[in-house]
Amino acid sequence: MQLTFDNRVALVTGAGRGIGRAISEELARQGVKVICVSKSESSCGAVAESIKAAGGDAFARPVDVSDGEAVAQAAKELLEQFGQIDILVNNAGITRDGLILRMSHEDWDAVISTNLSSCFYWSKHLIHPMARRRWGRIVNITSITGLVGNAGQVNYAAAKAGMIGLTKSLAKEFGSRTLTVNAIAPGFIKTDMTSGLSDQITEIVLKNIPLRRLGQPEDVAGIAVYLCAEEASYITGQVFSVDGGLAM
Ligand code: NAP
Repeated sequence: MQLTFDNRVALVTGAGRGIGRAISEELARQGVKVICVSKSESSCGAVAESIKAAGGDAFARPVDVSDGEAVAQAAKELLEQFGQIDILVNNAGITRDGLILRMSHEDWDAVISTNLSSCFYWSKHLIHPMARRRWGRIVNITSITGLVGNAGQVNYAAAKAGMIGLTKSLAKEFGSRTLTVNAIAPGFIKTDMTSGLSDQITEIVLKNIPLRRLGQPEDVAGIAVYLCAEEASYITGQVFSVDGGLAM
């Protein structure tokens, strides 16, 4: 489906693989200029090259999104370079699973800073120019774990639930400037993040998914890109599950 984008520039974090890659590729297919951010230069670089090879417009910028100073510096430089960033997709994320009694402070901090603090950093540094232009879209990729919790993931569940609070609060702060802020809560999506699941766990998961399959990154990308388009201008502060019915 062709959506309406009026010379927009997007920044997608975690663009190097999985869901972030699919969102970046679909945004580019819709004519949006995409700044691909990931931790390693090789991964965001490869995605930007592949978008350009397909006729799209993309630029790669490695940034450790868990580092507030690095994000502030990158946001400043990218705003200078591109003049505007209209769309922010906070997608970068990691897991460091373990039961709470065995979870280290490092694993807690790494998951909170990469998944949650990163959304605060990027939003803080990009939202003011969006508000001035009276147009902006922020899409935060949370998880059904943030909605329903999961044993062994207190760090990840807390980070993803925090993203939902951040989403709804920002939507209220900036609604009057016609900015929209929404979240997407994927269930089990086939990416590197879920590639370590054993066959036994996958079988149990599949039994609980009414649609009886794991999701594909494109299942998330479709709605993410819709939420960034002109057509979604009256949708804000919402959380959309993309989970095959798992957490309904
Ligand atoms: P993935 O395949 O593991 O890719 C993660 C991406 O995030 C990579 O591009 C990685 O960069 C980037 N990243 C990680 N730490 C970073 C950091 N400190 N700074 C910058 N970039 C960083 O993950 P995915 O499955 O596509 O997940 C994407 C998002 O969806 C995550 O927020 C995840 O929590 C959420 N989600 C996923 C699922 C699922 O089933 N897959 C379910 C629910 C929610 P490099 O490429 O440079 O390593």
